[in-house]
Amino acid sequence: MNTNKAEAERLLEIGEELLQKRDLKGSRELAILVQETEPLLEGSDQILAIVDVLEAAEKPLNLNNHHLDWYAILQIDRNSRESHDPNLIRKQYRTLALLLHPDKNPFSFAELAFKLVSDAWAVLSDPAQKAQYDRGFEVEENGLVSFWTACPYCYCLYEYARVYEGCCLMCQNCDKSFSAVSIPTLPPLVPGEEAYYVSWGMFPMGFVFESLENGGGGGGDGSVDKRK
Ligand SMILES: [Zn+2]
Repeated sequence: MNTNKAEAERLLEIGEELLQKRDLKGSRELAILVQETEPLLEGSDQILAIVDVLEAAEKPLNLNNHHLDWYAILQIDRNSRESHDPNLIRKQYRTLALLLHPDKNPFSFAELAFKLVSDAWAVLSDPAQKAQYDRGFEVEENGLVSFWTACPYCYCLYEYARVYEGCCLMCQNCDKSFSAVSIPTLPPLVPGEEAYYVSWGMFPMGFVFESLENGGGGGGDGSVDKRK
């Protein structure tokens, strides 16, 4: 008998015991040892698939309602192009589902991991659900972080999501394009004299106190057009 194989089988058993105790780190180490000892022995890749999926599911997102990270569960980097590639998402799902299917995978937590992968697929394979899920990330990561910029031609102020910093934007007031340079502090608001357009995304959903175009009344110290 091949001693490597016997050794690998022994390691695989230990890996399974650790997995039963949900020692994911230990189980992963053993599965990798098995692969190094006897690459052809079946089982280590099944254990690794379980560990990968459970680890991804153990890091809940800080989204409002604590979604799981479906991309991580399918072993996809959410911030890379992969997350927009339906073929790759399908391929990842297929690979993992085949490794994890409880009829084929005899190890602990295979059923749970399979269910997680199936749930991830249900969301990410449905364009509408995926778009809604992705929007949750955008709000979380960009929507709450904004910057202020001013049109250099008419001095109209805008608030944009941080992703638009440095972008070329069109002023909604004077229709000229300008580079969205962040201004460090927001000038004090003088009601009746300033116009603030609050823009989220490309479409301003502005609220206007009063148009700047007609001189903004007295134009006191806090007025916008003295700032720039
Ligand atoms: Zn302007």
